[in-house]
Amino acid sequence: VITHKLDIESAAGRMINRYGSRTYPIDVEKIARNLGIRVLISDMDSAVSGFLRRENGIILIGANSSHSEKRRRFTIGHELGHFDMHLNDGNEIYIDKSSTSAYFARDSESKWGVYEKEIQANAFSAALLMPEDLMRKCLEKYTPRFSSIEDIAWKMAKDFNVSEQAMTIRLINLNIFNI
Ligand SMILES: [Zn+2]
Repeated sequence: VITHKLDIESAAGRMINRYGSRTYPIDVEKIARNLGIRVLISDMDSAVSGFLRRENGIILIGANSSHSEKRRRFTIGHELGHFDMHLNDGNEIYIDKSSTSAYFARDSESKWGVYEKEIQANAFSAALLMPEDLMRKCLEKYTPRFSSIEDIAWKMAKDFNVSEQAMTIRLINLNIFNI
């Protein structure tokens, strides 16, 4: 299991290079398909955002059809994070709740361990959807013209097809907002 933040950034970067293309917006469904994963956008309980499941050797990612496209993209990125980092640790299913990104599996892990995996999967999704090099490249377009982090987050969220909230958090975490 990957524990270091920089390892998550490089794991997501490797996944893009091998199974997708380094252009934004990142096509997460294409990455999943190229990994041989089936993506199912379907009706689910509104409390559920998505899941990752392996059954009879088939890997399936589900995302809730009632959620916005931006939110589904983040969910697929999150499940790809579980696939990359956590699927081989004995769990065959991860179900993610919308509100808490809570984690349920057929084992009896401690709550802390569970929480840590969710943080890692969210970090993976952010790194996959908003790679640092592409963020910096994109930011160059806007820094002369936009003056606030809100304006830039709004523009870049559109460019990367993510929510403004996810983009704002990413801009702050990468500490690249410097105008
Ligand atoms: Zn999760």
